[in-house]
Amino acid sequence: MNPLFQFNHSYQSLGNSFFEKVLPTPVVAPSLLLYNHALAKQLGIKEGVDPSVLAGILSGNQLAEGSIPIAQAYAGHQFGYFTMLGDGRAILLGEHIGPDGQRWDIQLKGAGPTPYSRRGDGRATLRAMLREYLISEAMHGLGIPSSRSLAVVTTGEKVFREEVHAGAVLTRVMKSHIRVGTFEYARQFLSTKDLENLTRYSLERHYPEVSIKENAALTLLEQVLQQQASLMANWMCVGFIHGVMNTDNMSISGETFDYGPCAFINSYDPTKAFSSIDTNGRYAFGNQPNIAHWNLSCLANALLPIIDEDTDTAVKKATEVLNQFPSIYTQLYTATMAAKIGFDQNNISDEVVELLKDLMKWMQAEQADYSNTFLTIEGSIAKSGIYASPLFGSWMEKRSSLLLAAGIDTVKSKAIMFHRNPVVIPRNHLVEEALDAVVINNDLGKFNQLLQVVQHPYAVLGDYTNYQEPPVNGDGFYATYCGT
Ligand code: AMP
Ligand code: MG
Repeated sequence: MNPLFQFNHSYQSLGNSFFEKVLPTPVVAPSLLLYNHALAKQLGIKEGVDPSVLAGILSGNQLAEGSIPIAQAYAGHQFGYFTMLGDGRAILLGEHIGPDGQRWDIQLKGAGPTPYSRRGDGRATLRAMLREYLISEAMHGLGIPSSRSLAVVTTGEKVFREEVHAGAVLTRVMKSHIRVGTFEYARQFLSTKDLENLTRYSLERHYPEVSIKENAALTLLEQVLQQQASLMANWMCVGFIHGVMNTDNMSISGETFDYGPCAFINSYDPTKAFSSIDTNGRYAFGNQPNIAHWNLSCLANALLPIIDEDTDTAVKKATEVLNQFPSIYTQLYTATMAAKIGFDQNNISDEVVELLKDLMKWMQAEQADYSNTFLTIEGSIAKSGIYASPLFGSWMEKRSSLLLAAGIDTVKSKAIMFHRNPVVIPRNHLVEEALDAVVINNDLGKFNQLLQVVQHPYAVLGDYTNYQEPPVNGDGFYATYCGT
């Protein structure tokens, strides 16, 4: 029989200080609950495999052929404080090589304890893994780089948190799990040679087309900065809050990952933070670009010894790169936001920037729904309520005159907006309803419907009114939780 994955283990060439070999801990009763056929196809995974065989492999009960499972070592700044971490409940089975030659980490999340588990049980709750599956696939649908979800297997075991939960294992697929925290780990605990090897490895794996200019470390810093600036612009334009942007949760490849207490905003509020542990709003919606910049400074700091032998020179060179972040981010953000109101890249004047600022101010004052405001501007949702107000009307008039001055007619502006304004996002109340139905009533119906809709957020495939309505009482006390 052909193996399920075409495994390779290039990461292990970095040497065993970067990981620990560890086998998944078998579960009592693995059962395949969700399987992402479209992703499986893209990865070139053979079709028609018996679900019980998939459940065995994707729970870790049956070691996938060719796998040399490891837990990766990393450190990280959590809420600003440096800590040694490592994969405490995720086991990397190997790097699957897809039909196009792309290398994908295949990781089982919730596969049992590892040497990095500290006091954790190495397990994951079904609810949290379903949430990660749904939101990661929604992000992919939105065209935003993200880890992907191949499967959820229920374990038949109980997981003890504040309450008793059903357990599950998620198969996470990602270009790699190398993080800012991996570099912080190498800098703190390993040799300069190891740090250098990790840098070269990361460049070859994620940025093979980039030629090294001054040195590998600065080149990598520049590339990661570029990707993260773009990722932040993407998050901000769809209203996504990651919720726990610790440096161990920021990937070198520029993919969104580690979906814990993440959520989408309904009404526009830059100070919004849903995460129950983010009491100071460090990871609040509007603070995300600043935090990305801060995290990149942690990456730069880790790279200093290989940027230049002379510390002052290294700091100077790293700072020059880091200082580019605000302007690169602002340019990407402004371009995408301008597209959301119908202007293309070549028509972003100071007046358009002012127009956007006025809109944001108005949205915040009115607590306007973020996604629906743009759909209303686009004409996809009828103007009623706050959108029928004279204030909004005069903003729309100003916009029309600027569009006219830029020579952008209605057809063109609609086309520009169309791929930037999602018709649906996974709204918190709908996500929770769908999760409740599975976890409490064992009913996958709502979950699968919502998944189908959020995977295609730019195409209206039916009546989406339900999916577009914000929760009746706003976000109220809605809170999200980590590590469950
Ligand atoms: P996260 O907040 O998911 O990024 O996790 C932070 C750290 O805690 C990582 O090192 C995880 O591997 C670890 N961790 C989270 N949950 C568990 C668990 N249930 N058992 C062991 N380690 C865990
Ligand atoms: Mg993490």
